[in-house]
Amino acid sequence: MKAVLKAGPVPGLELRTVPDPVPDYGEVILKVLTTSMCGTDSHIYSWDNWAQQRIKPPRILGHEMYGEIVALGKGVSSVRVGDRVAAESHVTCGKCFQCRTGNAHVCKNYTILGLDRDGSFAQFVSLPETVCWKTAPEIPPELACMQESLGNSVHTVLTEDVTGHTLLVTGCGPTGLFAIAVARTAGASTIIATDVSEYRLELARKVGADLAFNPQKMDASVVQEQTGGEGVDAALEMSGHPSAIHLCFQHVKNAGRVALFGIPSAPVPLDLANEVIFKGLRVHGITGRRLFDTWYRLAGLFRAGLDIKPIVTHTFPLEQFEKGFNLMHGGQCGKVVLVP
Ligand code: ZN
Repeated sequence: MKAVLKAGPVPGLELRTVPDPVPDYGEVILKVLTTSMCGTDSHIYSWDNWAQQRIKPPRILGHEMYGEIVALGKGVSSVRVGDRVAAESHVTCGKCFQCRTGNAHVCKNYTILGLDRDGSFAQFVSLPETVCWKTAPEIPPELACMQESLGNSVHTVLTEDVTGHTLLVTGCGPTGLFAIAVARTAGASTIIATDVSEYRLELARKVGADLAFNPQKMDASVVQEQTGGEGVDAALEMSGHPSAIHLCFQHVKNAGRVALFGIPSAPVPLDLANEVIFKGLRVHGITGRRLFDTWYRLAGLFRAGLDIKPIVTHTFPLEQFEKGFNLMHGGQCGKVVLVP
């Protein structure tokens, strides 16, 4: 089969012909129909410090996928050949304290598709049946593959109730854009978004932001003006940039909440007394998706009319993966989908 892989410990990726995967006990073979690109893939492509510590080549990339099950290993009972499924990318142990107490999203022993085992930038991928998520046929393949990524945003937005609440979303990359669309569907009142890219601010407006602005060009006091001088009920940090993190703590109202999803590249100093303690804030660290509560909520949000189509800006054949990485490096895209 064709696959895009990190062949050795150097920058870039290669398109190669490799043997088809064979299902192990409890695993299925997925024929990949669509797979979307993520910032994580971009780090592995560039081979930055994080990637060098994390990835052991050779490795087929890709952890956001949708496809059809074409073969079953021994012991598989929850899915059948012909099922259309997406995949939860975290393979959890089911045995640790966190897994046994409803917190498998922070399993101490989890492995990740496309990082610790081969992923979906290929015609076929083997998956444990436990990560397969049966997907409603009305969801188009180019949207179905990004449910894993979208799930991060669902988790971030719905950590607490948002109905009728004012929100600040900092960072309008795909997860920020997803968060805006999810919050809109979930009944948020005013949604304010920030980013430094005009291209992404325009997408933010398209998916439901009432106000989208560049804090390098417009004074952020506009957040206070839009919320009657109170600040927002909830700030969702999706970028990992220190200035955006401080913006969240500055403009959330007293007794509000901040959800941190974006990953800073270095430690970020905070004035805990003034930014958190005296404001009486609740701060949530968000990683992955709640298993499988987030996935059920996501399926319900689609039924409630969640529209993420404007966020899918480019679709390429798998062979043209380089085009996708170039677009991502330039920030001139929403989500990029590859078709094997
Ligand atoms: Zn576990």
